[in-house]
Amino acid sequence: MQVCNIAIKEMLRYQILETYVKNYRSLFSISALALCITILSACQNATSVKNATITKSEKAATEKPHWEYAGEHGPNHWVEVSDDFAMCAAGKLQSPFNISADITAKLPALGLNYQAAPMKIINNGHTIQADQTGGGTLNVDGKTYDLLQFHFHTGSEYAIDGKSYPLEVHFVHVSDAGELAVVGVMFEEGDANTELAKIWENMPANKGGNTVDGQSINALNLLPDSKKYYRFMGSLTTPPCSEGVNWHMMSEPITASAEQIAEFREIYPMNARPLQKENNRLVVLGQ
Ligand SMILES: [Zn+2]
Repeated sequence: MQVCNIAIKEMLRYQILETYVKNYRSLFSISALALCITILSACQNATSVKNATITKSEKAATEKPHWEYAGEHGPNHWVEVSDDFAMCAAGKLQSPFNISADITAKLPALGLNYQAAPMKIINNGHTIQADQTGGGTLNVDGKTYDLLQFHFHTGSEYAIDGKSYPLEVHFVHVSDAGELAVVGVMFEEGDANTELAKIWENMPANKGGNTVDGQSINALNLLPDSKKYYRFMGSLTTPPCSEGVNWHMMSEPITASAEQIAEFREIYPMNARPLQKENNRLVVLGQ
């Protein structure tokens, strides 16, 4: 546009336009007119391209980039959806992957200090999520992380020793320093889970939130008896696929009934990112 502005100013400076008006019959003025029309039309095109760019970036600022679990906005295309999603393709410690212990060692006990939080269930367009403001903390390795929310994937995102599960829950935590820690628990088909029943009863079928006055959810009821876990580094399993996430996958699954699994799949038939490469990362299984 700078070039256009200069060209227009130059045309005005040399009074080419005025020359045309005064001497419209001369060959010079006809050439000048052709030149003016060419420049002005090129400038007009440049202006409309610029406007289109502005419109696109303005739109991006107001709308979240649209990604999905299948199709043209599916996992293989997340990196194309937004510049912010570069890690989804470039990352070397991406989640999920097939978990298999490289070593067993004495890991610090997970301080799962969860407590009842007011029931607020959100369908965010990608999963069903339970807000856990006031839901307690995770204490591990001398660090305290606040529980923010937990949400579900079907089928499971991770596999353990090559085995996938029908449902997986992720408890997402953040420390005061902004570090992320996730605790994952697998569901296998079996007895119905009563805490899950409370959540399912109130989950919105469409995008939106549902706060249920007088009812609470306790994340403690979605944990296995054994607190043995795998520890490894990974990423968010959804865009922007940020790495540096401290993962803790419980080695023992809990159960959900076939009906409960089917009920979730009525809303989300499949919301799991495919397995990623393990690459060079250490997976430690607690003793
Ligand atoms: Zn998740």
